[in-house]
Amino acid sequence: MEVNPSVCNDGNSTESHVKANKHIGRRKLSLDVENDIEYLYEAVPQLSTVFHIIDKIGEGTFSSVYLGEALMANGTKEKFALKHLIPTSHPVRIAAELQCLTVAGGKENVMGVTYCFRKDDHCVIVMPYMEHQTFVDIIGLLSFEEVRQYIYHLLKALQHIHQFGIIHRDIKPTNFLYNRQEKMFALVDFGLAQGTADTQIELLKELSGLCKAPRAVFGERNLNSCTPVPTKTTDPKIELVKSTKTEDPATRKFVTAHRRPLPVKTPVSNQRPNQRTTPAAVNLGFTCSCYTTDRVCNICMSRKQQVAPRAGTPGFRAPEVLTKCPNQGTAIDIWSAGVILLSLLSGRYPFFKASDDLIALTQIMTIRGSRETIQAAKTFGKSVVCSRELPRQDLRTLCETLRGRRPSPDDEATPHPHRDTTTCHHHTHDTPISTDLPGEPSRQHQTLAEPEAQDERGWDRVPDEAYDLLDRLLGLNPAKRITAAQALQHPLFTDL
Ligand code: ADP
Ligand code: MG
Ligand code: ZN
Repeated sequence: MEVNPSVCNDGNSTESHVKANKHIGRRKLSLDVENDIEYLYEAVPQLSTVFHIIDKIGEGTFSSVYLGEALMANGTKEKFALKHLIPTSHPVRIAAELQCLTVAGGKENVMGVTYCFRKDDHCVIVMPYMEHQTFVDIIGLLSFEEVRQYIYHLLKALQHIHQFGIIHRDIKPTNFLYNRQEKMFALVDFGLAQGTADTQIELLKELSGLCKAPRAVFGERNLNSCTPVPTKTTDPKIELVKSTKTEDPATRKFVTAHRRPLPVKTPVSNQRPNQRTTPAAVNLGFTCSCYTTDRVCNICMSRKQQVAPRAGTPGFRAPEVLTKCPNQGTAIDIWSAGVILLSLLSGRYPFFKASDDLIALTQIMTIRGSRETIQAAKTFGKSVVCSRELPRQDLRTLCETLRGRRPSPDDEATPHPHRDTTTCHHHTHDTPISTDLPGEPSRQHQTLAEPEAQDERGWDRVPDEAYDLLDRLLGLNPAKRITAAQALQHPLFTDL
């Protein structure tokens, strides 16, 4: 079957599009999904000898994930998740993602890997399929005990990968699969992972070697992205003053890398008419045979690094990431875990919703305090200016107010305990928590159930330890932020 490239090249098929199909059971697949499955079978024909691809279960900027079924040797059918990476991903990037899964995966709430298929520049990572719920669907239903378990299991996964010197860099609910019924958890998606200075993951070392630029900029997805560092901000409220000492030449280095002469390069569109390309990304038409070895050949090494802005999730980024601090460690994952806990305790998801890093930093300051944030930034060599002082908030008061368990102090007009969340988030110009992005559906804001029902779920007796842990996970200074290993020893988890 000829796949119509205009159908395949659908930049609009977002995650929500996929979700809409997800729960319909044995439903008829949409034409888009059928075409995508067909495209995958064509790109990696070996798949069809093993799998019946049933559905598409995820789609991001850098991969599409499918549900496949395989007939096992013992006659049973088993489900697998097939992650098809975009063909423009850097080969070392792909290999590093796989190595994280093979070395650290399969235990301690970290997803394992079963197999990997490759044909030309197409790579499909096969993992055991784990059924899971969408965070937005369950955040309003969870008991405090479930929240405590969730965060414990997330920290266990983090402790495990951090032991290997893996920094995940993209900790957020969609990358931590949760099956509420089975009480199962799995950390997925090492597509952004980087190594610490002493990482045990060889390919993560190689990855940092490939790009000598400081991590902050290189840290964008898949070596694909080189979002230029904005020198000036248009946001009048907050300014990031770059000291000459910390100014990084990363952007320039990236540009140089792009200009490196490349071997035989044929735009793929001339070669394979049904090849899907993402905007600003062109596949290189040459092939090599290094996939038969465990080395990455020179041709692959010199493949052009794709320039594709990473949509990303500024709302989960730590202050040191937002300010592009060059020394980033495992603490950045802990911050993101803190943002998840903040969501869970307040019942609001997403909690910080920002379209760029400086808006995200402003939102952090509204919760953690501007003076405190500026002070912490100083410790890692960044100078942050905020036009107005934003006081640090008490986390219990904040979470209980957002849960509707306390009247909001600035809200005499609407005493309704569970009023619309967006209203609440827009009450002043300087507190843009969950500021809606244009065109973003507001159904992402989860409203809460009745307060009576909440009491039964333990929300009337949240111990101080929960807020103490939250405070430590959201420590502004990465050097003092609690580690995963320490967090697992926190009094909140004494019985676990
Ligand atoms: P991306 O890099 O595109 O974000 P992920 O690895 O995060 O890719 O996978 C995207 C989505 O696919 C996940 O959010 C999850 O819903 C689904 N998914 C990924 N791996 C699995 C798996 N092993 N089992 C079930 N679903 C999975
Ligand atoms: Mg993901
Ligand atoms: Zn090669």
